[in-house]
Amino acid sequence: MSYKSANEYYRSLFGQKVYRIALDAGCTCPNRDGTVGFGGCIFCSGSGSGEFAASREKPIAEQVKEAKERVADKNGTGKYIAYFQNFTNTYGDEDDLKAKYETALSDPEVVGISIATRPDAISEKMYGILEELSKKTKVWIELGLQTIHEKTAKWMRRGYELPVFEEAFRHLSEIPGIDVIVHVIMDFPGETKEMMLETIDYCSSLPIHGIKIANLNILRDTDLEKEYLKDPFPLMEMDEYIKFLEVAVERLRPNIVIYRLTGDGAKKALIAPLWVGNKRVVRNSIAAAFRSDGVIQGKNYLPKSDH
Ligand code: SF4
Repeated sequence: MSYKSANEYYRSLFGQKVYRIALDAGCTCPNRDGTVGFGGCIFCSGSGSGEFAASREKPIAEQVKEAKERVADKNGTGKYIAYFQNFTNTYGDEDDLKAKYETALSDPEVVGISIATRPDAISEKMYGILEELSKKTKVWIELGLQTIHEKTAKWMRRGYELPVFEEAFRHLSEIPGIDVIVHVIMDFPGETKEMMLETIDYCSSLPIHGIKIANLNILRDTDLEKEYLKDPFPLMEMDEYIKFLEVAVERLRPNIVIYRLTGDGAKKALIAPLWVGNKRVVRNSIAAAFRSDGVIQGKNYLPKSDH
C-alpha cells in the first residue's frame, strides 16, 4: 500500500524537495489564556505543541535565517515553507500577525506558508488576510480537530464542538487558494478502533487537502501525564498502531496528502508510548508497511500535531 506523502506532493508542486521550517509567531492560545479555557487541551505541553520551533523571542526574519542555516546542508536546492507552528497562529493582533507572515514570505527561498490554528480562532479580518495571502503564495491552514467524538473532545478539553470546526472548514474551503490540513489523534482512552476510523472517515468525506494523523503521546508536565500516571490506560504498541494505520489510510481518499502518521513527542519529554521515541525504527517500519518515502523530512524539523 502506498499513500501520497508530503514529500511527493511538494515534488509535484515545486519540482523538488521542500523543507518546512518551524517558526514561532509569539501567539498564545484561547484555550489556555481563559478566552475559551484555562490549561489548554489535556495533552498540550507548555510549548503549545511546538517543541521544535524557533525561539519566540527572536524576530521572524532571524528565525527564518537560523532555521534555514540548520537544514542548509540537507536542502541544497533551498526552498522552504514557513510553518507557524506553536500555539494558535491566527490568534492575536491581526495586523501584527499579517506582518509576521509577510516577513517570512519576503525571503525569496520561502515558497509558501503553513499556519496551524484552532477553528474557533479565525476572525473575519483574519479570513480576509489569509485570502489576500493566498493570492500571492501557497497557503495551507492546519486545523486541529483531533476527534469527531464529543465525549472525547470534552475529556481532552478541546474547547469547541464539531459544528465550530465545520463552519471554519467551510469558510476556508470557500477561499480558492487555501488548502486545509486537518490534525487528528488516534488512541484516545475510551475510543475504540471503530471510533477512530469514524474520525478518519469523517475527514475523508470532507474536501480536505491533507491530514496529519498522530497517535496520542503523553508528554511530561502535561495534565495528561498526571492522569496517565494516576490511572494508566492502554496505548497501542508500534506494530498494532501500524496495522491500524494500514486500515485507516486505506479508507482515506487517495488524493489526500498525508503529512504525518505518528505523534512525534520530543524523546526527553515522552512518557508514553516509549516506542515513539525510537524515530528511526518507527520511520523505517512505516516506510516498510506503506512502501513510501514517508512524511519525515529531517530530524528536528518535523511538523508537530495539535491545535
Ligand atoms: S493543543 Fe493547540 S489548541 Fe490545544 S491548548 Fe495547545 S495550543 Fe491550544
